[in-house]
Amino acid sequence: MAKDLVLGDIIRLEEGEKIPADARLIEVISLETHESALTGESTSVAKEISEIKGKKSIAEQSNMVFSGTVITRGRGKAIVIRTGMRTEIGRIAEMMQSEEKEQTPLQLTLAKLGKLLGIAVIIVCIIVFLTGLLRGNNAVEMFKSAIALAVAAIPEGLPAVVTITLALGVTRLVRKNALIRKLHSVETLGCTNVICTDKTGTLTKDEMTVKEIFVNNKLIKVTGQGYSTEGLFLDSKPGDYELLLRISSLCNNASISNEKILGDPTETALLVCASKASLSREELEQEFPRIHEIPFDSERKMMTTIHQNKNKEIAFVKGGPKQVIDNCSFYYENGKIIKLTKSKKDEFLEKNREMASKALRVLAMAFRELPEKVKYSSETLEKNLVFVGLTGMIDPPRAEIKDAIKLCRKAGIRVIMLTGDQRTTAKAIGIQIGLINKDEKIITGMDITEFSDTEFDNIVKDVNIFARISPKDKIRIVDSLKKYGNVVAMTGDGVNDAPALKKADIGIAMGITGTDVSKEASDIILTDDNFASIVNAIKEGRGIYDNIKKFVEYLLSSNLGEILVIFVAMLIGMPLPLIAIHILWINLATDGLPALALSVDPAEPGIMERKPRKKDSKIFSKNVVLRMMAVGIIMCVGTLALFKLYDPVNNLVYAQTMAFSTIMMFQMFNVLNCRSEKNSLFKIGIFSNKYLIGAIVISILLQVIVIYTPLAIFFKTVPLSLVDWIYIILMSSTVLIFGETIKLIRNKINKPIED
Ligand code: ADP
Ligand code: MG
Repeated sequence: MAKDLVLGDIIRLEEGEKIPADARLIEVISLETHESALTGESTSVAKEISEIKGKKSIAEQSNMVFSGTVITRGRGKAIVIRTGMRTEIGRIAEMMQSEEKEQTPLQLTLAKLGKLLGIAVIIVCIIVFLTGLLRGNNAVEMFKSAIALAVAAIPEGLPAVVTITLALGVTRLVRKNALIRKLHSVETLGCTNVICTDKTGTLTKDEMTVKEIFVNNKLIKVTGQGYSTEGLFLDSKPGDYELLLRISSLCNNASISNEKILGDPTETALLVCASKASLSREELEQEFPRIHEIPFDSERKMMTTIHQNKNKEIAFVKGGPKQVIDNCSFYYENGKIIKLTKSKKDEFLEKNREMASKALRVLAMAFRELPEKVKYSSETLEKNLVFVGLTGMIDPPRAEIKDAIKLCRKAGIRVIMLTGDQRTTAKAIGIQIGLINKDEKIITGMDITEFSDTEFDNIVKDVNIFARISPKDKIRIVDSLKKYGNVVAMTGDGVNDAPALKKADIGIAMGITGTDVSKEASDIILTDDNFASIVNAIKEGRGIYDNIKKFVEYLLSSNLGEILVIFVAMLIGMPLPLIAIHILWINLATDGLPALALSVDPAEPGIMERKPRKKDSKIFSKNVVLRMMAVGIIMCVGTLALFKLYDPVNNLVYAQTMAFSTIMMFQMFNVLNCRSEKNSLFKIGIFSNKYLIGAIVISILLQVIVIYTPLAIFFKTVPLSLVDWIYIILMSSTVLIFGETIKLIRNKINKPIED
């Protein structure tokens, strides 16, 4: 961890990692870093171990790596010489310590709505005030009314509740293994209608085990489970497979020591397999010291290491079967090197297909004795190889994937698998997890390059597995999907995935196996690397958005009720039913708690059975707007009716206390309406949100305190009798009865709800 580093520590550097401190290099293997954060230079710079004299700029210090920059290629080791704020990036950070607050689209919309309401209200208030004066009303009274009206109209609690809801949502998502880096993605999750996911590690367990090897013209089964080093090579002798295992152990960067396993799962599986024949990488490396490495990358799909073999140099190569075999000119059988004919090549490729169709991830191994003084590069070395054999490893799908994919289908979310593995392996896994059926089409990265843009768009519209994909293809796929209005979530782990992650509406990085670069480019990080967590996050995202809608509806409809009460009373020449402090109290105290409780309302049943929300859809549907208006009118009529009944002309304070308590109780019943747009309260369960019940109880208690204690002096209220309360409850419950009736009728005629 960066925070534990001190001067003099030695750090290991690997591709894709972010450098935690400024450090001087002591070992360099094709190391390149991206230092734009410091130098503004957009291409990677090569690093070397060299002496540098005099004072040099950051860009010229090629024997140093700097905190905050990232490794784009290769490996190395370095000694820490500066940490924390003393590093180059620390100095820059110190200069600009200001933080930007990010607002989500919804927050912006609501802020705009608030402003709009404010302006409208001021205009209405002025009109009311002036017409009142013209009619000869008391100016002071009219002024008070205008103030009350303004207070009623502005939803004071709204911004606070929205912020709290988003914050609570983010915490809940973390508990479900989705770390939100950009707040807006909470909202975008609810709109997501395509997930482009990696296969290895995300859909599968990433716990690979070599099950079969093809070598010396034999298909040999290997027994054993997981990473346990116990297992046998069936029906074979060590002479068959020893060379294959040597190559796979030496062309390898993983390590096993004291049962502790470190490194890439594919490579780990190869070491585990070799240890079943009592071969270890450490011992082999003493015999064949490594001189150089050309690292694996997902464009080439190969990796090569060069070793000293007595007085010669030898290259060991492993990689995708097609890629390796295409570069072989010979093959190895029973200790002999034989020229590779077309028919033999086809035979090997056929074996590869046979293994891959059993859902095995296949790698080919090859070697080549090097001529003297050859340049160490992919172009010069990875050709004229001697093919040795194939390894096939299983990477079982995660248990929960099948259900997660089914859930996506119900929820109107398309799942597309993008993998570097070959077509046959991808297909076998795809069928196992229920992503495709047997005769569905699969496209490979090689096919893609040949398509024109329109052809490509048509392919992307209905193909669900892309195999042999390189990171460049991923960008093209996102582009095409977005062109047709899809909201795309895309996973990635490697350095080269960063651009695609940025392009996607939601870039998802892998917390465990992902590189720092991919995390940096992402909106969400999955802490368990699991596809199922994406689906959970989408469900959560839909719920959060729903809840925001619920309390916005609640607060707006409640305010509408208050506005109408005052406005209508003035129009028909009644005394003022609510004074400003009543309205303030309702908006800030008794309304606020239920609104907050709505923000943690559990997801409605069937939340994953409806289509994703459209990105540009209005926050409220027509139905909800109509319901808000109806509710406002009911509150107004009910409150004014009781007010009138209690004779405001002779008993103003008493009647006002009644109006105050009635409108307050209306809100308590209204909040129950707002819990769902179409489901009855009884279906979602009256007590399924305990916080809401608590909030309602507390709000009523607050009201009681105001009326029955000396506080009444401030609020200008009188104590009410039990009979008064019965009237209030009978009246205010009408709003819930109305809401439930509407839902009942609508569900009877079964009109689908449009979003
Ligand atoms: P994915 O992770 O989606 O399977 P990759 O790009 O990592 O895609 O791998 C693509 C192919 O490259 C694999 O199918 C395998 O044949 C080969 N491969 C993967 N890892 C290595 C490695 N460390 N060394 C050599 N070849 C590899
Ligand atoms: Mg990979």
